[in-house]
Amino acid sequence: MTPQQRKQIKAKIIEDLAALEHEITGLKEKTKPITPDVSLGRLTRLEMIGEQQVNEHALHEAEIRENKLKYALQKVDNEDYGLCAECEEEIPFGRLMILPEATHCIECASESGQ
Ligand SMILES: [Zn+2]
Repeated sequence: MTPQQRKQIKAKIIEDLAALEHEITGLKEKTKPITPDVSLGRLTRLEMIGEQQVNEHALHEAEIRENKLKYALQKVDNEDYGLCAECEEEIPFGRLMILPEATHCIECASESGQ
């Protein structure tokens, strides 16, 4: 990985984190407890609960990714960032730009299911 590529990945992590934080804020708003006196509008209460469960799941996933990205941001300047934790090969730059929190190359990730 060149220093330039490392910079690009770092910028990507910061960008992804900002987008994720925005998403999390929105999802937290949507997963607030439904008050009994809420004006239901077009949605029935049951539909609202279903939708809330979907949002809670999305929120959970978003928070997991946020943690991974924060961790990646701490590690990005380290010498071993971008090396596969399993086989120690370099993770391709293209993969890191899509998934900067990746700790495994594509082969090891598909084998271990990570
Ligand atoms: Zn590997």
